[in-house]
Amino acid sequence: MKSSFGKLIYSIFLTLSISSLVALIFKDVFWNVFAIVTILQIISFVIFNRIYTNWLILALEKSKAVQLKESNRNYTHVECPCSQKYSQLVDIRFDTKNIYRCLQCDKDISATPIITTVNTSDPLYFNKKNG
Ligand SMILES: [Zn+2]
Repeated sequence: MKSSFGKLIYSIFLTLSISSLVALIFKDVFWNVFAIVTILQIISFVIFNRIYTNWLILALEKSKAVQLKESNRNYTHVECPCSQKYSQLVDIRFDTKNIYRCLQCDKDISATPIITTVNTSDPLYFNKKNG
């Protein structure tokens, strides 16, 4: 609280100092120039703050989108349908089509994640979390 008040005093002091310095160049109309420069500084502070805030919000939303994309990502072992039955670690995503290159036969392979369902036994049934 004390430090933010100190910053405010410092900002006001700096603003009025700049206004005074510019106004000193035009000594005949000192107070007119002083007022105009002070108002211009306040307006530019407000505009800068608005742009900076918008930029922060945009950056936050971008990072959220990246986070969401990354949460769809899973590394898993998949077996190539070629004759070698080569198994390799592949980056599988649930939000896009997955195409990877088999390291053994050098062919492009399309991989689709499949969810398998099984009947649960009674103890598991009572521990269900979804649905
Ligand atoms: Zn292969």
